[in-house]
Amino acid sequence: MSDHVRVRFAPSPTGWLHIGGLRTALYNYLFAKKHGGTFVLRIEDTDQARYVDGAEDDIINSMKWSGLEIDEGPGFGGESGPYRQSERSELYRNYAEQLVNAGHAYYAFDTAKEIEQMREQNPNQKYDAVTRMSMKNSVSLPADEVKKRLDAGEDHVIRLKVPDQEKISFEDKIRGFVSFESEGLDDQVLMKSDGLPTYHLANVVDDHLMGITHVIRGEEWLSSAPKHLLLYKYLGWNPPAMAHLPLIMSPSGGKLSKRNAEKLGIPVNVRDYISEGWEPEALINFLAYLGWSPGDDREIMSLDELAKEFSLERVGKAGAVFNIDKLTWYNEHYMRDRSPEDLLQEVKKHAAEAGISGFEDDRFLGMIRLMQERVSKVPEFATEGAYFFNAPDEYDEKSTKKAWKTETPDLVKKYMQAIKKLDDSSFQASRLKDILKEVIDAEGVGFGKLMLPVRIAITGTGQGPDLFEIMQLLGREECESRLQTAISKLG
Ligand code: GLU
Repeated sequence: MSDHVRVRFAPSPTGWLHIGGLRTALYNYLFAKKHGGTFVLRIEDTDQARYVDGAEDDIINSMKWSGLEIDEGPGFGGESGPYRQSERSELYRNYAEQLVNAGHAYYAFDTAKEIEQMREQNPNQKYDAVTRMSMKNSVSLPADEVKKRLDAGEDHVIRLKVPDQEKISFEDKIRGFVSFESEGLDDQVLMKSDGLPTYHLANVVDDHLMGITHVIRGEEWLSSAPKHLLLYKYLGWNPPAMAHLPLIMSPSGGKLSKRNAEKLGIPVNVRDYISEGWEPEALINFLAYLGWSPGDDREIMSLDELAKEFSLERVGKAGAVFNIDKLTWYNEHYMRDRSPEDLLQEVKKHAAEAGISGFEDDRFLGMIRLMQERVSKVPEFATEGAYFFNAPDEYDEKSTKKAWKTETPDLVKKYMQAIKKLDDSSFQASRLKDILKEVIDAEGVGFGKLMLPVRIAITGTGQGPDLFEIMQLLGREECESRLQTAISKLG
């Protein structure tokens, strides 16, 4: 076997790509890059009943958005295609027959009802070495009857003949030595009655034919590994190295399921992260650390840096808790690292969705500069910074109660009259601040007595970025009108 690393991400298109899937893809990608290897995307679509239209596009879009470049896959080229299992269906039957001929698999004719009855009657409930002989299959039935049934085209499946009392062990790259007793396994269906392979057979055949050297996948597949190893052995192939990634855990305990994630406000599908305006670099950096760490205190790493540092040895065995605050922290970092010019189009898009449009780019850019350190995600520019475009239609109650006193309208009026005199070119933040000082000095009151009411009048809230910068951006007329409106509304 050559030592060129080949790994694959092998999702089933049964729904939108979720974050656990993206993490699996990411670890495979990082491992491939680290070793100068090849990252393959294989679509495991043999389960027709669970096929979801659009899921494959969603997987590919999500990977593109995340920056994970696919070396081989459907539509990406490569020598080991086709990369959709539905386009390889011819292939699998031969291997299944080969296993039957060698005595490692058999035809089974049982109906669903008969299998159900067996489960009811049998305490271990499995189709296995214990129950096999009492079922209808090519091990228990005479050869001529099997032939008759096959010739008549009777519905049947092909099952793996799991050996009795055998230990199946391997060295998992993350979990270390892992061992299973064959008694715990059932006679796995390899070929279904619809003529298509199950995941287990197709997965092993393809990993072999595609020259996969390392299988890196979620822990939920660990229990399938012994069946896969039996298949490798019976087909006379060397198994790839295996690494089973730790589960992603919910902060409220247990595995992060769709339901408890939703309850906690954690998006589960990558497409939700895209539509919610998360930064791809943030999600990637965060997911890389969800189960892996570089072993020092570095936290911020680009995809390239991660690829240099990544190793399976540093992936933990224990479940990794999904912490949305940490993800938000990453998002703030990557979003704040971008220039206002770079953010402009996205901010405008979200603003348009929030009904804000028809403003000059300079207004948006000014707003982004002032708000960048204060928001966590791009769409928040439009929600938190709506007052940069439209006058507030209500005033924050708590701040108003605290700051708007009987003498306030008079003070605000004085300030308004003073700034009215400024021409456009002197309507500058520093001038606006000086004038406010002059007014309070003349009135003998503290800075906050006027500053806070003016902020409320201009923005509707009690806090935000530099007030005078906001005013400069809004311009004289708009400021005057907002001050006037507040005086009449708040009295
Ligand atoms: N098709 C399986 C999935 O949906 C692949 C598991 C594996 O990587 O072996 O995750």
